[in-house]
This record gives sequence, structure tokens and C-alpha cells, in this order.
Amino acid sequence: MKAYPRILGQLVVLIVVACGIEEEPLPPTAQPEIPAMLRADLEALADPADGKGSAWLVPSGSDVPAVASQAGRWEIVFEAAESGIGVGGAVYLQISPFWGWSTPQVVAPQAVGFTEVTASADGVELEVATLDEQLLRIVVGGRPLAGGERIRIVYGAGPAGARADRFAESHSRLWIAVDGDGDGRRVLLGDSPSVPVVAGDAARLVLHLPSTARPGQRVEVTAAVLDASGNAGPAGVGEMNLQIAVDGAVPGTTPGAGFDERGVAAQLMEVPESGVLRVRGTVGDGIDAASNPLVVGDSPRILWADLHGHSALSDGTGSPGDYLAYARDVAALDVVALTDHDHWGLEPLATHPELWDETRRQIELFNEPGRFVALAGYEWTSWIYGHRHVLYFDGEGEILSSVDPRYEHPRQLWRALRGTATLTFAHHSAGGPIATDWRIPPDPELEPVTEIVSVHGSSEAPDSPFSIYRPLPGNFVRDALGRGYRLGFLGSGDSHDGHPGLAQLASPRGGGLAAILSEELTRESVLEAVRARRVYATNGPRIVLETELDGHPMGASVRPRDRAELALGITAVQPLSTVEIVRAGRVAEELECGGLLECRGRLQVIDLEAGEYVYIRAIQTDGGAAWSSPFFVD
Ligand SMILES: [Zn+2]
Ligand SMILES: [Zn+2]
Repeated sequence: MKAYPRILGQLVVLIVVACGIEEEPLPPTAQPEIPAMLRADLEALADPADGKGSAWLVPSGSDVPAVASQAGRWEIVFEAAESGIGVGGAVYLQISPFWGWSTPQVVAPQAVGFTEVTASADGVELEVATLDEQLLRIVVGGRPLAGGERIRIVYGAGPAGARADRFAESHSRLWIAVDGDGDGRRVLLGDSPSVPVVAGDAARLVLHLPSTARPGQRVEVTAAVLDASGNAGPAGVGEMNLQIAVDGAVPGTTPGAGFDERGVAAQLMEVPESGVLRVRGTVGDGIDAASNPLVVGDSPRILWADLHGHSALSDGTGSPGDYLAYARDVAALDVVALTDHDHWGLEPLATHPELWDETRRQIELFNEPGRFVALAGYEWTSWIYGHRHVLYFDGEGEILSSVDPRYEHPRQLWRALRGTATLTFAHHSAGGPIATDWRIPPDPELEPVTEIVSVHGSSEAPDSPFSIYRPLPGNFVRDALGRGYRLGFLGSGDSHDGHPGLAQLASPRGGGLAAILSEELTRESVLEAVRARRVYATNGPRIVLETELDGHPMGASVRPRDRAELALGITAVQPLSTVEIVRAGRVAEELECGGLLECRGRLQVIDLEAGEYVYIRAIQTDGGAAWSSPFFVD
């Protein structure tokens, strides 16, 4: 996530004394200046001439579509409205601040991002300067720019052009904003131009199988060809053919497994009577991949979910429709939630109800019980108490914004949501952008789980693989369990790149997935399973983690006992490094699983005392990992 002041740039950051609603002192990671700035922005008055005018892309002078990460040239014309722009007023070019567009600049003609700005108005003198990343200011001087007069902006005018976003999307905005009277406050033009950004060259293949199946069942193998950043639909993919091999058998060209224009192919296959099925695939000139493992037998069904990600409606990439289609077709997820920020980004959901309505409309279009579950939600982006998600399971629900004094504290949020089919959960809770204030106990009804891992890394414990950046000591999820909180574990991507379910492809710290143990694939069954904490977390790989304590599923509460049997089975994607039993705050036992792809065992756990918890952590040699939800002892 980028710093908000760099996105808006128009406000002096106000340092204020925050007035929390409760007596609690602010947590050490609180950033009260951010909500203060957001509120000041809400209260600032726009001049009638702000945000007036129109702008469009000149197709003959522009590279349409843009290709991800490649240089191009884009020509934009701005035409002043009747109210004009006064001397000292300004037009801004705000290139989509997410993720990787060149900053427009006017000082180095040979360098990337060079931008030419000219006015077709005698006597008007323009003073152009880069104000911040991706932000160019064009101040009107000499005389006012009158209605109908134009400014021509060529972004990428030099030999190096301007570099496009590294992530593909259907409409990447080249925003124009207008400050008509020169008071420093600017307003975006709603019809600012956009360009589609398409994938670069084919560079990788992803193959997915469901993780469990019954003997003799037919399952779908899905394949997607992606570019190096994980974008779908590279050029020429329609001519490619997928070759698949099962368990090392000789590969053969599979008839019917051609790719559609998005680079997605699907093929039905029959599973064997027992064992673990793994499929390898090859496409083009040696782009190959292995699938996740499929365990055949009577194991509980696993639904793969990514419950946290952002679209261009806040600080991510792509439309809600782009996001949902990628989740279902490319990442082959069973369950997805789109969770844009309540009040963060150029047009926040909290102040643009039409965008929230559009999100919910798309979610309803994609939700298909039995095939794909889509959930509407948002990120309650509190810069005081930490970020939480709000997921609405009945399609209803509003944006209760963390900037709104009625919902600025977690307890106010929970009060407003009580009794509804809603879940909340904290994320990047040990640090990262902001840590969770664990002094406030999670609501037992609304918040039965927590997101322990995402692109920010792991908040489970300091010795986790890819442990989170800027950790707050004593604030890990293991510490929260030590406070007596009963939290099941989820992973989710927090993808901002338009790749829900595959956030790990473009992230150095891995991604995040939630495995939900549910035989049914409906909103109701998913909610029931998460409330019962029948979930586990991974940092991206679809590892199968099975465990029971004296016959109880993970997430269950059990009575104290002298002796219990812990059964576990790990079916990994890459060879295992360690499999550990974590009990009461520390690694209590390590199993002999090093180097294995599959590891099963039963062990005795003695003297389980009230208040304890036990969970399993399985780590692969490549850092991929899975964490079961804890068993809790009453
Ligand atoms: Zn967040
Ligand atoms: Zn997020």
C-alpha cells in the first residue's frame, strides 16, 4: 500500500491529538495523523471551478492497449469547461499510482516518463512540474485558460517513452484533476481517460486440481498460461496446446485442451482408486508446471479461498469483474472475497456508494452455489487499531467506515454488525503497515478467526517463514492466543495486483490462502465452517493438512485430558522441511518428515490443561507453509 499523502498530495498533513472514544491509550503503532488527514479532506470545500472540464485519450497518438511493464506513449487532451481555469489554477495528470507506471517528468527528455505539455491558447503560459510519484502539476499563468481552450499532454514523449503498470487490467486510469481557482484543492474528472493494460509474453504455467476427491470421481484440471508477473492472457496463447502427464506417465497432447484467449484451459479426468494424484503440464517451448496434490479417499473436502484482496476501486488493479474472473478461472479458487478499502484510494468506497453498489452487483453475478462462492466485503482500514475485514455473507451490508466517528473503534463496528451474517478478521496483525491492537479482545461471535499470513508475510510467530516486516514484539498471533483468544487461522493474499489466489507469484514474501473444510460450496456452509474454525492457512501452496485430536476437527474445543491422540497427515507441494506441533506458546515437538512429500503420523499428547492450545505448522524446503487452526482446551 502506498502512503496516502503521496496519492492525494493536496493536503497539509495535520498533526492532531486524536480523541479516541474510549479511555484506552493509543497503541504504539497508531498513526492518528492519517485519519485526521482523511477527515480534513472530507470537510474541505471545493470551488465550483474544481473538477470541471473534460479529457480524452487521442487514439492515434497513443499505444492502446498498453503492454504490462513495457514502454509506450499516451496523448491526452484536456479541454477547459465554461468556468475556465484562473491564473494560479492547475490541471493535474495523476497516473494510476498503483503499480509501476512511470512518474511523468519534464526535466530529462531522454529519460523514461518524459512528458510534453502545450496549450493552444495565446498568452497562456504553463508552468509544469512533477509534484510527487505519478503526479504532474500544470499551473496556468499569463492569463486564465478560457472555456473550450485546450492543453495537450504527451506522456512518454521522449525516446524512452513511459513505462506501463506491471499488472494487467481492463482500465488503468490516467486521471486528470482540476484546481480551478488555485487554492491547492483539486478534484478528479469522473471521465478521466483510461487504457487497457495487457499481459507481457508467456512465461509461466499454473495447474490446479481440487485437493480431495472420492475414488473414481471425475475432477477438473485447470491450466492457465501467465506472463512473468502472473497476468493472464499473454499474446499468442490461443495457438498453444497443453500437454499433461499423470504421475510420470509419458506426456501426450491432450485433445480439447486448447486455451481460450485469456490463456485458460480445463480438462476433465478420472481419479484413481486411492493415493495421491499429481499432474505435470507443458506448454509452448518448455514452459512447464506441476499441479497441487489431490488426495483420493474419504478426507474432508477442502475449499480453497482467498478472502482478502483489492481492485482498482481502492489501491489495487483491475475492475471487480477482472478480479472475480481471475479468482474463478485462472486461480481455480472455490471461494473469493473482494475487500477494497473503506477510505483509501482516489475515490474511496465510503464516499462513492455507486462503487460499492457495483462491487455487490458483480459479486452477485459471480456467486454460483455449488460452483463458486463470491463474497462482498471491505477492509475497515483503521490506522489506530489495525486493519480488519468485514465480510457480508448475505449480500447485504454497508461500508461502516473507520473514518466515521460512529464506527472508528472495533467495538463500535461489532456493535453495528451484531446478529448479521457477517465475519470480521484482523490481518498483518503483528506489524507491516499497522499492527493490530490485541488489547481489544476479538468479538467471539463475529471474529472467530484471524488472517495469519499474506503478501505482508506471516504474523504467526517470529520464527515463521517469511515473518512479517516491522514486527511489533509481543504482538504475534501466538501472543494473542496466549491472551486466551480463540482464533482459527486463515491465510489470504491481500493481493493488489489483480491476482487473487495467486498473490505469491509476484510477492517476495509469499501469498496467502484459506483452506475451508466444508462438503458444501455455498455461502452458508462457508460461514458455518469458518465460525467453527474448520479452516487452515497457507502462504500460497495448496498443501493438504489433515488433523484430528481424539476425533475432533481442527478449531474444536476439547476438555482437559491426561492423554490424547493427535492424528495428522501432510501432503505437500514441495518436499517438507519441518512439521512441528506448537503447544502453549512454543514448538513442543518436531516430526521426522524432512525431505518427504507426504508425511503421516499419530502421536500422544499428554497432560492437556485448560487454557492450552495445540496446532500444527508444516514448512516446505522452499518456505511454503501451512498452519492448522488450533485445538483449544476448555
Ligand atoms: Zn490492510
Ligand atoms: Zn488489504
